[in-house]
Amino acid sequence: MLQWADDLKVANSDLYLDSCRPRGVCFVSHAHSDHICCHERVIATPATAKLAHHRIGMTCAEPLDYRRDLQRDGDTIVRLLPAGHVLGSAMIHVTRPEGTLLYTGDYKLRASRTVESAELQSADYLVMESTYGVPMFRFPPADLVAEQLVDLVRGALRDGRQPIVMGYSLGKSQEVARILADAGIAMTMHGAVATISELYEQLGVPVGKFRRYQFADFHGGGAIDLQERGALLAPPYVARTPFVTRFKNPCRIILTGWALLKNAIYRYGADHALPLSDHADFDELLETIERVRPKKVFTHHGYREFVDELQKRHIDAELARPDEQLMLFE
Ligand SMILES: [Zn+2]
Repeated sequence: MLQWADDLKVANSDLYLDSCRPRGVCFVSHAHSDHICCHERVIATPATAKLAHHRIGMTCAEPLDYRRDLQRDGDTIVRLLPAGHVLGSAMIHVTRPEGTLLYTGDYKLRASRTVESAELQSADYLVMESTYGVPMFRFPPADLVAEQLVDLVRGALRDGRQPIVMGYSLGKSQEVARILADAGIAMTMHGAVATISELYEQLGVPVGKFRRYQFADFHGGGAIDLQERGALLAPPYVARTPFVTRFKNPCRIILTGWALLKNAIYRYGADHALPLSDHADFDELLETIERVRPKKVFTHHGYREFVDELQKRHIDAELARPDEQLMLFE
């Protein structure tokens, strides 16, 4: 039911799944840039269509609400389900005469403060991401990580150091913002984060009160008080740029699932690395298979060792793309 045709595609249908090349019809699971492209027609949630439009000017979306069936080509029915990854993220469930298929895109099963929780549906074929598909990736409870983050930020503010909290502009930063806002901590956002946060607010998801970064608020004679500007939220790519290095003694915190790797702080140019992730961890990947009960599993975007792990457990599994390498996306 799944075909590799330079990209993932539902067999005997024109429907591509998260294709990186322009296609006639494509399902876009969410608006991270590794999943979007200008296709002729796009099936996506309204929020993904809006976020993707902002990021790449995509105008050809067919927005579909969660849990609504869409009949295509007479014998294909598609339904979108929440994926719990970032705002608007979706899985797609496909029903065809030859069986059913669930394609997860990026997802997680843990609850989030800014995103609807993932919803699984049983299927004959499961196509799943496996970003964290090795046993060392077992994340601690999100509330515990949130507490650690709040402690680090409060400690830095107390010591007169600028806390700089780094996470991806779409999804991670809004989750971080809600954690800090819930703890009553003031925030300033880098422009890339602020723009997406404004879109979240427009789409009815409050992220908390924040100010947009202005150079003069932080540097020079007119700089405002550290307590007032609060934590500075920024995307990870700024870590080694003057945006960060011009601060005298900043407290740099990176939030990513890769924080569980030993060298994470060096890799990200941070002082602290905390494992807050928008992806399923190893146990959640296994739980997904238990709940979907597929006849066959295809994995992509992750460790190929996960396929070996499944085969050891007598689960019929293979890579969705035969020559796939580990991709360090989050
Ligand atoms: Zn993603």
